[in-house]
Amino acid sequence: MEEMSLKTGGGAFLEEKVLNWDVIQKNFENIFGSEVYSSWLKDVALVKEYNHYVVLGVQTRFFRDWITSRYADKILSELQKHKLSINRIEFKIIDTERGFKKGRTATTVSTQKTITKITDSALNYNRLNKNLSFDNFVVGSSNKVAFLSAKKICDKLSIYNPLYIYGGVGLGKTHLMNAIGLELSKEHNVMFISAEKFMYQFIKSIKKNEMVNFKDFFRKANVFVIDDIQFIRGKEGLQEEFFHTFNSLFEKNGQIIISCDRPPNKLDRVQDRIKSRLSGGLVVDIGLPEYDLKLSILRKKIEEFQESFKESLNINREVLEYIAKDSKSNIRELIGIFNRIVAFSKMNNRPLTINDCKIILKDVYSSNKIISIDRIQNITSNFFSINLQEMLSQRRSRPLARPRQIAMYLAKKLTTRSLPEIGRKFANRDHTTVIHAVKTIEKLSQNNEEMRKNIEELKSLILAD
Ligand code: ADP
Ligand code: MG
Repeated sequence: MEEMSLKTGGGAFLEEKVLNWDVIQKNFENIFGSEVYSSWLKDVALVKEYNHYVVLGVQTRFFRDWITSRYADKILSELQKHKLSINRIEFKIIDTERGFKKGRTATTVSTQKTITKITDSALNYNRLNKNLSFDNFVVGSSNKVAFLSAKKICDKLSIYNPLYIYGGVGLGKTHLMNAIGLELSKEHNVMFISAEKFMYQFIKSIKKNEMVNFKDFFRKANVFVIDDIQFIRGKEGLQEEFFHTFNSLFEKNGQIIISCDRPPNKLDRVQDRIKSRLSGGLVVDIGLPEYDLKLSILRKKIEEFQESFKESLNINREVLEYIAKDSKSNIRELIGIFNRIVAFSKMNNRPLTINDCKIILKDVYSSNKIISIDRIQNITSNFFSINLQEMLSQRRSRPLARPRQIAMYLAKKLTTRSLPEIGRKFANRDHTTVIHAVKTIEKLSQNNEEMRKNIEELKSLILAD
């Protein structure tokens, strides 16, 4: 980063635009999941792009604070994937009336006072998130053993070495790893890194011929916290390097903490000597959260919300119990639902009912369901009582063209297919035709009540079992 800023002379003057905001937005949806995305990130606008930073526009201070406190790190690292030189994000509050109604490329910006900065540190990959601590890790029977082992390591280093925590997605592994890192970094030299970033650094050093630095850098740590080790599967060079790092730490009595999505013996395409190292300490798992844990997590989230935003959140007990009961078993998803519900209640400005929740939950789950374009085409043509072949044909008469556009729009909204893929499914149309259809229908459903109703009905037909 340093080098680059020297070459470009600080950046603010040489403006080079490379970010494709639509693509990035799409990635946000993948990274954060559709709940978080549609509640918080969908309307974030790219206001201005500089060599070393971007200015993003958000609707309100509330949105800015929420996004800054929860998603800014990941947003920054996503931006860096597209443009490595970016090292910070500025947020500006955009005048809703004039900015957002026009769409994403907003122009009206309020005063400088509202800017929040996130600066990249030299060791971006080593950054611990102070919001993921032991204090806000809620303990229940499914994660108790993992939690207690993690605490124990912090009290007495090397009691288990390595500590290996495994479990499915969204169950709190990264949170726990981060909490360990935070705690131990008070007194130790902690390296906290995901296996993926480890590889990124590794490859970068090879390219730049800096392997010596790389090795030194990692071996300086006396606590090595490595998240998502499953990433090394099938990557020989990386395993080699990892094994040596591991050994050198071990020799000098360093502590190693590992997380993984599966137990060590299930790590296929990983060298046996590594597997045996990994299982040589304590191996514990995090299980699926039970009802009580889910309820406590929701309560904790409400508390956190009220503390950070200094406003009360009116969600009654029945509603919470309903969510805890009806939500699937992953905590990340549970929090996604919670965020949705908060956004919903803020927008509607009234206490939520169970019925509201049902709608929100249905929406959340159906967005996870796999829906085929064929299904969308069939249901749409049926709905408008037209022949499927005709709907897909090249004829341009409105009674055919509108349903066709609606089907394209729904294919974009309800599936994860890319625009070209959707185009191909519609008698080999170009992706620009799909874009046009999506925009047209979006616009129409904003202004036209009947269109909106039709879309809603179609959606519920398509999403129904
Ligand atoms: P994993 O790494 O296992 O996929 P994460 O650690 O990223 O899961 O957890 C997903 C989300 O759920 C994070 O926002 C995390 O803070 C939250 N979370 C998970 N477990 C707990 C818990 N026991 N208490 C509070 N929040 C939790
Ligand atoms: Mg994780």
